[in-house]
Amino acid sequence: MASPLHDSVLAARTRIDAAARAAGREPASVRMLLATKTQDAATVLDAVASALEIAAARGDDTPVLLGENRVQELVEKAPALTDLVAAGRLDVHMIGTLQRNKVNQMLATVTGMESVDRLSVAQAVAARCVRDGRVLDVMVQVNVSEEDTKAGVAPSDAVALATQVAALEGLRLTGFLTIGARSDDDAVVRAGFARLRAVRAEVLASGAPGTDDAHELSMGMSTDLELAVAEGATIVRVGTAVFGARPPL
Ligand SMILES: *Cc1c(COP(=O)(O)O)cnc(C)c1O
Repeated sequence: MASPLHDSVLAARTRIDAAARAAGREPASVRMLLATKTQDAATVLDAVASALEIAAARGDDTPVLLGENRVQELVEKAPALTDLVAAGRLDVHMIGTLQRNKVNQMLATVTGMESVDRLSVAQAVAARCVRDGRVLDVMVQVNVSEEDTKAGVAPSDAVALATQVAALEGLRLTGFLTIGARSDDDAVVRAGFARLRAVRAEVLASGAPGTDDAHELSMGMSTDLELAVAEGATIVRVGTAVFGARPPL
């Protein structure tokens, strides 16, 4: 039986594909991340099953990607997700601010972290990874719009933080995340995404140790994904477009 979320997952994927084609890019070069905050485990599993089915139909065998903002929600949903993660069919990324006392709980479930915004957090995660004999894929979160309400390192400090994170044993720097400016002006939103792309270029050009793999641009959400794909997003994070409106956090 078709899952209730099948149509909305397919519609989101179709939007991403169309945006990629409009930008002269391969649809497969943009990964869709399901942003599952506030959704219960059954709903998340339903969306993942749909995403797997839709991916299979397009001949895409990369794992489905899911993002959580809070460790508490990761812990609650972990039992439902571990088999899919172990089977290599699901990647789970932390996309929210991490408190240092929750590092171990986060690491029990995630396959990556996109929201590294301070060196102290990166160091705490790295130390635990070294102890566990693993290497975690991480991205640096940059606050391109410099709005006070948004997490992330200031653009002027982003290259320095990224090179410090890249040098840490236990972590692999894979790219950058941002949340688009809250603006009705597409040009303002696009300029922010272009700024993240410029940070990536500067980090890759630095030749600093550990920066070679920093290619990902995780940017664009339900309302601005077309703009982000036009500016080079490699991961687009969709919540409401798939799950509908959620109660305020
Ligand atoms: C909630 C959230 C999303 C998804 O936002 P929508 O507007 O619901 O698509 C993406 N990224 C982050 C970091 C989020 O917290």
